[in-house]
Amino acid sequence: MKYDYLIVGAGYAGAVYARLAADKGLKVLLIDKREHIGGNAYDSYDEGGILIHNYGPHIFHTNSKRVWDFLSQFTKWNYFQHWVLTSVDGQLLPMPINVNTINKLYGTSYNAFNIHEFYESKKKNIEGEIKNSEEIVISQIGEDLYEKFFKNYTKKQWGVQPSELDKSVLARIPIRYNLDPRYFTDKYQAMPAEGYTRMFANILDSKNIEVRLGVYMQDIIGEIEYDKMVYTGKLDEFFDYKHGQLPYRSLQFEFETFDREKYQEAPVINYPNDYDFTRITEYKQLTGQISRNTTISREYSQNEGEPYYPILNETTAKMVEKYKEEVAQLKNVYFIGRLAEYKYYNMDYVVSSSMNKFKEIEEDN
Ligand SMILES: Cc1cc2nc3c(=O)[nH]c(=O)nc-3n(C[C@H](O)[C@H](O)[C@H](O)COP(=O)(O)OP(=O)(O)OC[C@H]3O[C@@H](n4cnc5c(N)ncnc54)[C@H](O)[C@@H]3O)c2cc1C
Repeated sequence: MKYDYLIVGAGYAGAVYARLAADKGLKVLLIDKREHIGGNAYDSYDEGGILIHNYGPHIFHTNSKRVWDFLSQFTKWNYFQHWVLTSVDGQLLPMPINVNTINKLYGTSYNAFNIHEFYESKKKNIEGEIKNSEEIVISQIGEDLYEKFFKNYTKKQWGVQPSELDKSVLARIPIRYNLDPRYFTDKYQAMPAEGYTRMFANILDSKNIEVRLGVYMQDIIGEIEYDKMVYTGKLDEFFDYKHGQLPYRSLQFEFETFDREKYQEAPVINYPNDYDFTRITEYKQLTGQISRNTTISREYSQNEGEPYYPILNETTAKMVEKYKEEVAQLKNVYFIGRLAEYKYYNMDYVVSSSMNKFKEIEEDN
């Protein structure tokens, strides 16, 4: 049979495109090399019956009503506003840094009206142009907060000192001038009531979509007849790494289940300075699941493993340019998503770019 679309990857980029195409009556074959749908947002029940996020904690947040309305067709939501604590000097402090973080850490009594005086008195003037991530943080909040909250966390996360990282990595550190303890401030924040995998199953539930799992594109490409392809896998892999391999920072998750109702004070606790892991997530506190047990994950950053965070620097930017020139030569093949574009994107962004691409290809022509 001939398909209108071969879609590679059953994460947000692929699944959203597949559904839009299917709703227009187009026949779609969606494949994923993994044995499950959902891409990195995949969640599943562990042996203790707790819903965990297998590729790390995913919290849905967006300001886009269009994205929110689209996904709301396929899931009900548990309204949830994420919050995070950071373990610093033996205290658990609100993160992002806000007025309460400062007052608890330094025993001060600033408020939303005068906290700017504190930041002003701490921030350091950098002579000349700001060159790296250390300088960009110090220029906003000074050395002490940088050392306590950012220096070692960044070192653990990226494996290099912030002074060796491009300034764009820590360019937009969220610093609050008020008491808002939420991690995100988007208009819509929620978790899919029955989990992400259930939501993806609903997105893909169409007579026009055939899903094949455990199928690697390169193994079947010659056997499938199709008009157009949506590719959401790695950019360099598509071209057999002809311009070099694009590097990624990866993660390892150590899951542990405890025979008690609650493990920690917040859904996520960051450990910038202690231990080798960066943070601990307690999944029940994200999903709202009620159970006598609880499961946590400790998160370690490493170079090997699943490609999670693109390493953006001058060298990789040049490689991406070369690959993009190749992409532009292709006909009827569209690259969407975090791997295909070699960018860190949040879930809502990927949904939105899939919707935009579909509109551009199928509706505007
Ligand atoms: C630790 C972590 C936490 C995150 N937390 C959040 C969060 O809280 N909120 C948020 O908004 N975003 C979060 N994100 C980002 C989110 O995971 C991504 O935005 C989203 O998963 C991207 O979807 P995608 O479809 O582009 O890619 P993916 O989900 O990676 O899907 C791509 C799929 O393509 C398949 N594939 C690749 N190559 C091939 C091939 N050759 N053949 C067949 N199949 C192939 C892969 O197996 C994969 O399933 C987080 C990311 C990470 C790493």
